[in-house]
Amino acid sequence: MTTSSWRTLRNVQARARLERALPPIFPAPVLRHALARPLIPPTPRLAVESYWRAHILRADQLARALAARSGTPEGWTWQLGAEGRSGSFRTPPAPFRDPAYARGRGACCICGQPVYRFGWHQDLWGSGAPNARAGWHAACVTAWKFWIAPHAQVRSLKLRQRHRCATSGKRLLRTAEVDHALPLYRVWREHRAAPWPELLGYWGAPNLQVVNRAVHVDKCRDEAAERSQTLRLSRFTVIEDDGGFQVIEDA
Ligand SMILES: [Zn+2]
Repeated sequence: MTTSSWRTLRNVQARARLERALPPIFPAPVLRHALARPLIPPTPRLAVESYWRAHILRADQLARALAARSGTPEGWTWQLGAEGRSGSFRTPPAPFRDPAYARGRGACCICGQPVYRFGWHQDLWGSGAPNARAGWHAACVTAWKFWIAPHAQVRSLKLRQRHRCATSGKRLLRTAEVDHALPLYRVWREHRAAPWPELLGYWGAPNLQVVNRAVHVDKCRDEAAERSQTLRLSRFTVIEDDGGFQVIEDA
């Protein structure tokens, strides 16, 4: 059997399976996308996941909009290394993944909003209650993966910049790299008290850019120098002293 006849046969079967499982109400763009795939996803759930994977920037925007609807949970602050928290500023803060703030089944562990059928974020079916077995939105999981590994989405990000380097304006080369415009260590250092939904923007598209490798190497070197400078200074305390300054090394 040739690859194309194998694919045709497989798609006929997948389409039949999908159509059998499809409820009367289903997001039209998701179905359109599914039927146009080279390999048709055989279940509604897989169709939804495939849709968001293909619209990564939209998933990112939606996840952050849903987080904004939840707001910062009362009493929560971004901390590193505490129980139930990530130990690194490279991971986006996720209050609803912390057992102390989790909203339970039926709520998304990433944005905190109710989850409906197939991991959808709107109650298209008028069920009036979230899907109690679901713990996340398909869009939010896609966004989360993007936030922790944006390099995997370099193609979408390049397209958004019309293939121009965000720093030099020159044409992006094949070796171009994804960069956080404001480095994440500075987000932790300077913006950690910002409202949580706003913080997510530093991992998402608003803070991501594609730059040519040479530009990126320079930027990383400057950032590393700046960080080590800060770390060195943080070992000292500066005391104001009769119009002068005294620098004391911390114990
Ligand atoms: Zn969500």
